[in-house]
Amino acid sequence: MTHKTPITVAYGDGIGPEIMQACLHILEKAGAALDIEVVEIGEKAYLQGHSSGIAPASWDSVRRTKVFYKAPIMTPQGGGFKSLNVTLRKTLGLYANVRPCVAYPPFVQTRHPDMDVVIIRENEEDLYAGIEHRQSDEVYQCLKLVSRPGCEKIVRYAFEYARANGRKKVTCLTKDNIMKMTDGLFHKVFDEIAAEYPDLKNEHLIIDIGAARLADTPEVFDVMVMPNLYGDILSDVAAQIAGSVGLAGSANIGHSAAMFEAIHGTAPDIAGQNKANPSGLLLAGVMMLAHIGQAEVAECVHNAWLATLEAGLHTGDIYRDGLSQERVGTHEFAEAVIANLGRTPHTLKPVHHTTQTPLNLTPTVAPRLAHRELVGVDVFVDFEDRNPDHLAEALQQVKDGTGLDLLMITNRGVKVWPQGLPETFCTDHWRCRFMAADKGASITHAQIIALLQHVADAGLDFIKIENLCTFDGEPGYSMGQGQ
Ligand code: NAD
Repeated sequence: MTHKTPITVAYGDGIGPEIMQACLHILEKAGAALDIEVVEIGEKAYLQGHSSGIAPASWDSVRRTKVFYKAPIMTPQGGGFKSLNVTLRKTLGLYANVRPCVAYPPFVQTRHPDMDVVIIRENEEDLYAGIEHRQSDEVYQCLKLVSRPGCEKIVRYAFEYARANGRKKVTCLTKDNIMKMTDGLFHKVFDEIAAEYPDLKNEHLIIDIGAARLADTPEVFDVMVMPNLYGDILSDVAAQIAGSVGLAGSANIGHSAAMFEAIHGTAPDIAGQNKANPSGLLLAGVMMLAHIGQAEVAECVHNAWLATLEAGLHTGDIYRDGLSQERVGTHEFAEAVIANLGRTPHTLKPVHHTTQTPLNLTPTVAPRLAHRELVGVDVFVDFEDRNPDHLAEALQQVKDGTGLDLLMITNRGVKVWPQGLPETFCTDHWRCRFMAADKGASITHAQIIALLQHVADAGLDFIKIENLCTFDGEPGYSMGQGQ
């Protein structure tokens, strides 16, 4: 008897239980050798008092099997509840989110019949670090964290994925014309790694025009790699314009574990009505089978599913008069796929799956420690008086004896002192940049501490500081807008 692969399964919330049941039924009938451990996550776990949406025993199961097949779950609104999806991806180190978005003409309505795009979304960093603060009465911030190892892992994954799957081009999308340091790093690493793959075309587009082209002419794209937030948004756009969000599955891949899920949510509007399309979760299951070495079963399920689409048996989300033959429910759709096991599609291209061998992800960009020098400090203060000249006057006095000079003040990033414009709108949140009075010299922590003491003694309310460093002489900080 074939060795069964242990996997962890969560039935989730909303439409989760009905689509998971349908998918497991299909996988079982196709001969998948799975040893299933069921865990409860999402709403029930939150209600039992697990604020992260998962009980410790369920963690143990996922860490033991290292393969998680998961239906969508809901995150309760409001403070105190962390998104379990983000927690799972980050805690398990699932850095690559792979989302194939394919059109199925003429069987599923789409304006983009030649679309076949794989979006590879960075899954652990960017604005999803979840580090947010309210800093003053008026201003809130969210930290965007991007690391070199994080960029290297995801970009290399994209190129290796493209090579392993016979793809021709990798497109990188960032907003590095504005975020020169964070998105700039992502782009820079992309260029460095792209040079190691001369057999693949590569290109970089600014996210705004890239997104516009994806929505307009998705057929010009092949594999796309991008930071977390852009990938989150654009993969939904891509899935929807390919046919339906209900059709796309995704794999979350890490070095030691992987999680497979549909890209859609719990669809509470149709939950429990036998209306949901199980296809997204089923295609995630297909990716899971290829991942655990059951490529033959993956291929059999995938082709049977394509044959079912071709036969015009469609759930409500993709049913169209004239295109479809019969509107079916979740259960009937699954039975139709089972009846088609062993068949291949006639018009749609049959798929061929090979076991996904672990991708070659050894970093070849040598780690290098830059020489870091402390050259200044940005002190953020909460100051209700909206006149920057008044703040500058107060700060000019506190810097005395610290060996530091006040270089500029910005409000929401725009320089308002010296020589600000009266038209600039100011909030209560100010960034005050101090650098060595002796121009170009480095400074010490003791100087910063002395400065902060003076700031506090003068009754000014500092809310955070950011050290300004150079790395091998290059500034590790941005200029003020208008500086
Ligand atoms: P959603 O994806 O659940 O639904 C959006 C629309 O698409 C709805 O009209 C829905 O009926 C339809 N739809 C979605 N999946 C479908 C399917 N398989 N078949 C047919 N129609 C389908 O998005 P939402 O309404 O914004 O979110 C609902 C809940 O899902 C929220 O609590 C959210 O946090 C959660 N969510 C979970 C995940 C996840 O677990 N990975 C992902 C996204 C959203």
